[in-house]
Amino acid sequence: MSEDATVVGELDPELRVMLELGEPDDKNFIYCAMCSHVITSASEKINVAGAHAHSLTNPYAIQFQVGCFRQALGCDISGQAEAADSWFMGFLWRYASCTECHNHMGWYFAELSGENAFYGLILDNLQEEQPRA
Ligand SMILES: [Zn+2]
Repeated sequence: MSEDATVVGELDPELRVMLELGEPDDKNFIYCAMCSHVITSASEKINVAGAHAHSLTNPYAIQFQVGCFRQALGCDISGQAEAADSWFMGFLWRYASCTECHNHMGWYFAELSGENAFYGLILDNLQEEQPRA
């Protein structure tokens, strides 16, 4: 009987996914400014209504600088889809928060038809540089 437990088998599926993502530097990840969790990446930046960044004011007169992203896998979406006070015509919004520290990161906007959707993330709550360990 061998006690050799160091047989190189298949890669752990989770590890494989991490490897396929490549080096963090290659992806230009964008991080949560509060906890440094990966929120999205620079390659997910999109233009909505002609611009990536929008200066938006909510009904409480609070102003946000919001950037539009195709995908933000580091965000949890919560709450009911709301049509009221939507900044983007025809899109319903829900809250988007950091999956790690649960801080409010912005909003998830989706068309009623479900055809188009994107994230509008508060730029002050993001940091583009690699956090220092
Ligand atoms: Zn966070």
